[in-house]
Amino acid sequence: MNLSEAAERVLSGETVRLAGWHHRSNEQARFLRTTMSPSFQNDRVTGGVGVLEDATEQRRYEERMEQLSSLDPLTELYNRKKVSDLLMAVAERPDASTDAAVIMLDIDYFKLVNDTFGHPTGDLVLRSIAQLLRRNIRKTDAIGRWGGEEFLIVAPHSSLADGVRLADKLRQTVNDEPFGPVPHVTCSFGVSSFAGGKSVEQVLQDADEALYAAKHHGRNQVSSKQ
Ligand code: GH3
Ligand code: MG
Ligand code: MG
Repeated sequence: MNLSEAAERVLSGETVRLAGWHHRSNEQARFLRTTMSPSFQNDRVTGGVGVLEDATEQRRYEERMEQLSSLDPLTELYNRKKVSDLLMAVAERPDASTDAAVIMLDIDYFKLVNDTFGHPTGDLVLRSIAQLLRRNIRKTDAIGRWGGEEFLIVAPHSSLADGVRLADKLRQTVNDEPFGPVPHVTCSFGVSSFAGGKSVEQVLQDADEALYAAKHHGRNQVSSKQ
């Protein structure tokens, strides 16, 4: 909304609020909020009054809170709620002709890692795998912790075959990496995609079934289900 649109609204009796980041040369950006309200005389709008406030501190705090509320504290990946929101957004994207791949992965025999090396080392492995996965996906892909030792990756503009290729690269990367005292950890992957206008529930069910198949066929492998 520009000033003339704002003025028009105020003159027709509305209170208008505007907010945004304001950049001035040689100064830090500031988040400014303005409220403009009509002033009346005998029920007729004769003008308006406005307040301009600097809400930078408050906005930064809000942004930090928004960020924290979408993160999993242990791995610092997105949490399940945030990944669900992203899946919804992909399912409702306006350009549904481009596919999006979904990869569900689960660490193999993780209970054994905990039992052998202790829970704190298990946590360390979880965190390291999370970071390793994040470093090996594109900026436009999203990764979150779906459950205990289960992760979900959403890869926009990717076919099922693209998803399988990415999953296999990640599988190999985890397989090749030592994690502190734990010399060898592997993951199993299930890949699905939104092709054919699938719902979020269907995509998740297909990825889950594919993951189950990867486990069933011996783990440390990728399965897919269209
Ligand atoms: P599978 O190959 O079939 O996946 O075997 P698994 O042992 O990984 O599977 P299972 O579901 O039996 O065990 C998962 C384990 O993950 C059990 C649980 O204690 C552990 N786990 C889940 N969340 C965490 C966590 O935050 N930290 C640690 N250290 N362990 C966790
Ligand atoms: Mg497991
Ligand atoms: Mg599991």
